[in-house]
Amino acid sequence: MLSIFSYNATEYNSKEHSVTEQVPAKVDMEKLVSLCQRRGFIFPSSEIYGGLSSCWDYGPLGVELKRNIKQAWWRAVVQERDDMVGLDASILMHPQTWEASGHLKGFTDPLVECKSCHLRWRADELAGNSCPSCGGELTEPRLFNLMFKTFMGPIEEEASVVYLRPETAQGMFVNFHNVLNTTRKRLPFGIAQIGKAFRNEITTGNFIFRSREFEQMEIEFFVKPGTDKEWFNYWLEERFNWYVKLGIKKENLKLRQHMKRELAHYAKACYDIDYLFPMGWAELEGIANRGDFDLVQHAKYSGKSLTYLDEENKEHIIPYIIEPSAGVDRSALAFLCDAYDEELAEGELRVILHLHPSLAPIKVAVLPLSRREKLVAVAKQIYADLRQCWMVSYDDAQSIGRRYRRQDEIGTPFCVTIDFQSLEDEQVTIRERDTMNQIRLPIAELKRTLQAKLTGEPLFVLPPGGKIWKGGENA
Ligand code: ATP
Repeated sequence: MLSIFSYNATEYNSKEHSVTEQVPAKVDMEKLVSLCQRRGFIFPSSEIYGGLSSCWDYGPLGVELKRNIKQAWWRAVVQERDDMVGLDASILMHPQTWEASGHLKGFTDPLVECKSCHLRWRADELAGNSCPSCGGELTEPRLFNLMFKTFMGPIEEEASVVYLRPETAQGMFVNFHNVLNTTRKRLPFGIAQIGKAFRNEITTGNFIFRSREFEQMEIEFFVKPGTDKEWFNYWLEERFNWYVKLGIKKENLKLRQHMKRELAHYAKACYDIDYLFPMGWAELEGIANRGDFDLVQHAKYSGKSLTYLDEENKEHIIPYIIEPSAGVDRSALAFLCDAYDEELAEGELRVILHLHPSLAPIKVAVLPLSRREKLVAVAKQIYADLRQCWMVSYDDAQSIGRRYRRQDEIGTPFCVTIDFQSLEDEQVTIRERDTMNQIRLPIAELKRTLQAKLTGEPLFVLPPGGKIWKGGENA
């Protein structure tokens, strides 16, 4: 099952994969941050007040990118599967959830964090004053808990303390029986959830890589004990391939097995899918075999049975859980980094985001060659028609070359140009972002053709009445 992962995972150590590792930059983070801000992907939070440390706002294009990532994930893990259902649990949960999960324990443990690999250590259990894993510099010890605390109800008293969830996972564990009873799913089956999580991280940075408010896409997949290893491998492969299918270059992805000492208290095994970010290899998604830890803990703290009746063997069992846990923001960063490209086109620098069409914020740009009334009427009609199906932008400012560049820079896969000839022959051109090739086709064929091209049909497969306009051999 693990054919693509034929390497010895233990040969990779944490140091090799720390985010401070020096690697030749593919895309400079500064350039990416600047593009994101300039074009409206991502802004610093509360910027007019000087920004709020490690919080980010997604602008008009960023919000589309994020929605598309979440939609692609949901489609792959819920919509197209029989063995998965969705959930949207609340961010605030009963405080006992965090006692059961082990998240509250940290309040009483002075912790230090490695500034290099971000592993945290109990200060009282450390022999030296450097990171036992990578030798990196450590922060000062402090009573630290990652969870943001707030108060429920009008009076600020201890009795009403609640926490902003640091992961979406717990919502799925505590709803295990609700989902089981209402969907009549049998093992193996999973629950999937997308939502905000909050962590008062000691060290943040690298743009949206590590922030204090972020979004997760998590799966809790419940399986019969004994089949957990097989399902763990299945999900490793499935999740790795999801990134590849959406355009991330295979050579920029790597699996990294957690060392025994790195494993979280609940995990029997854990792998990270690491991505080669501009600052080095770092975690994009974690896949853990959590065993029966979560259901056992919640049963213990709630006093409710969280078992499953295995009808085959007529016995109550506690399922094991495989958890693929991804970050929306980190995925967005990885997709942006991987898509970023620069080239010289006709003596000018062309910045391109080679985003997969399903992730591109804008799918099609409608560009009338001039602002003449007759042309605008046709262009606006096409615009109105296409936006029934996709996010479409209309741009009539400046030269056509400049407009193409603007769309290339935000990753728009196709531009539709309406020229004066269109008024006579009722035809328009489609220009492809990556190759800059063009075809000309009847307006009546436009929507159907774009639909096909956006789902992978090559540009030069022509609709009735269409012809290669620029870039092809017959052009
Ligand atoms: P790291 O060690 O990089 O802080 P983690 O191992 O604590 O990450 P998990 O608890 O496994 O992360 O969370 C699952 C996923 O959620 C991560 O792979 C990442 O994509 C995302 N994530 C976790 N913490 C953050 C954060 N502070 N900012 C942005 N995304 C995050």
